[in-house]
Amino acid sequence: MSAMIDTSFTLIDGKKISTDIKAEISLKVVERKNQGKKIPHLAIILVGDDGASQTYVDHKVKACKEVGFHYTMMRFADTIAEDKLMKHIDQVNKDQDVDGFIVQLPLPAHITVERITEKIRSDKDVDGFTNHNFGSIISKNPLLMPATPFGVMELLRRYNIETEGKNCVIVGASRLVGAPLSMMLVEQGRATVTICHKYTEDLAAWTRQADILVVAVGKPGLIKGDMVKEGAVVIDVGTTRVEGPQYKNGYSLKGDVEFKEVAPKTSFITPVPGGVGPMTIASLLMNTLKACENLNP
Ligand code: NAP
Repeated sequence: MSAMIDTSFTLIDGKKISTDIKAEISLKVVERKNQGKKIPHLAIILVGDDGASQTYVDHKVKACKEVGFHYTMMRFADTIAEDKLMKHIDQVNKDQDVDGFIVQLPLPAHITVERITEKIRSDKDVDGFTNHNFGSIISKNPLLMPATPFGVMELLRRYNIETEGKNCVIVGASRLVGAPLSMMLVEQGRATVTICHKYTEDLAAWTRQADILVVAVGKPGLIKGDMVKEGAVVIDVGTTRVEGPQYKNGYSLKGDVEFKEVAPKTSFITPVPGGVGPMTIASLLMNTLKACENLNP
């Protein structure tokens, strides 16, 4: 007799969790207002006119409005000189009314990204990009957490998914997602963590061992059904715009996981869109509130 396979899984609803977080933050903003305290203020720097970046920034502005934060949008042409951009960052660093700010990536090719992100004051770095905030993940007092991995940790926490002692495999080792998440899962999650990347041999042999599999690569369909263990938790960070006339807006957002094949094998899985994506903005808001509380107790 063949073994029964449980095909029921829980869809991790990042949209709902981010709505819950926004409601919690709104309450805290009202509380601060009632106590005569400063309202959090997020500044956003956007360079150039890349369509995807504009969409991300629009979502961030909308989220600020929803929770009652003040916000400032600063736009610059994609021809701006690196030193001129550095001067603007310096101004925002010194502006006492701004609690947190972000420089939307990617930046034009003539600008050195790390020089720009490192220029941001770490206590206002609400994307958690600076080396200082990155390193603080392994300290006793983590500062502003890198937004996307922070969002992943928050999803696991709010769905009561146990990480302690679990075998976590992360596919993708970027500075933005995979690397900081691996440190958070070890430090805060007490998990056993493996990181896979482009040079990993026999990727499936690693992914099949995962109790919790996080994929952050940017290659739609990379993870197939036979690469996942029965009952695993699967978090798909990948977000790739795939264009085609069949899609309503001319494109569709695709994750790295072959959802239809993989989902029935899992216990929990995130969809794309609607999984990790909304959590990145929720993390940005949580970090901005935290920066404001730290700078203006
Ligand atoms: P990235 O900087 O390009 O990093 C991709 C990582 O994947 C690298 O570590 C790379 O390895 C690895 N990789 C490439 N091909 C691979 C393969 N065939 N097998 C295993 N690993 C492979 O990208 P990222 O910024 O981390 O973003 C990853 C994905 O997440 C993208 O789709 C991005 O759009 C998405 N993302 C989503 C959110 C969100 O809010 N939902 C936020 C951030 C990113 P090497 O290190 O060896 O090159």
